[in-house]
Amino acid sequence: MKKIVTVAVAAMVSVSALAQPKVVAHRGYHAIDGSCRNSIEALKQAQKMGLYGSECDINLTADGVIVVAHGGLHPDKIYKRGENIKRLDIQRSTYEELKAIPLENGETIPTLEQYLEQLKKSKKTKLIIEIKSHYTPAKESEIVQRTVDMVAKYGLNDMVEYIAFRPWVCTELKRLAPQGTAIAYLNGDYDPEYVYGMHLSGIDYKYDVLKKKPHWIKQCHDLGLTVNVWTVDDEQQLRWVIEQGVDYITTDNPVLATKLIKEICK
Ligand code: MG
Repeated sequence: MKKIVTVAVAAMVSVSALAQPKVVAHRGYHAIDGSCRNSIEALKQAQKMGLYGSECDINLTADGVIVVAHGGLHPDKIYKRGENIKRLDIQRSTYEELKAIPLENGETIPTLEQYLEQLKKSKKTKLIIEIKSHYTPAKESEIVQRTVDMVAKYGLNDMVEYIAFRPWVCTELKRLAPQGTAIAYLNGDYDPEYVYGMHLSGIDYKYDVLKKKPHWIKQCHDLGLTVNVWTVDDEQQLRWVIEQGVDYITTDNPVLATKLIKEICK
């Protein structure tokens, strides 16, 4: 009996020692009336919830405007309003062309500037900016440079973090963003040692990748790298990532994620 109690207490101690992961709303908090993915409203709702972060995707249009949209096509494939709607290649369309097609909630496709205006309104919620892959490295360097400059111009260096699938985008972010800016790699193919060697701050990998290689979480922590995981919406999966001690959870269900974190990381 004594042994059982000891084991139970040890288990409780190890669970209670878990740090609370930070919740990041995937493409903003969109699962609510009047909101939709990558809309200004989705960022507002994430701010209203007081979340650690609100993620968004950015692309450079053909005429050089940075827009918030998942891409490559606008509207997004998750768009529900009609099957026959014309969809535009974001990076090969002008801002005017894109503006003509509203988002699901009726908003106009947001520019990064409009997003930063909204970001400024809250001191709590950070913007996790995913810089999408572009057609050429030169375009990727251009969007990185211009994004970093715009964030600095708005005085928001401490309110943004970056993520990207392309190693080149990460390399350019590392070169151009202020020292200490969080930059995490998304593509799931590099081991922690390699990401550490790229001088990034962490990994941001798909749930399936970490599920197959849970030892990468500890390896990252030993190297001083952070671990973010996407896109975890299901209760069982959320419980697993919380118990594994990840640092960030990117989710379409920030309400459930927040509730489970409170419950598990007491
Ligand atoms: Mg994204």
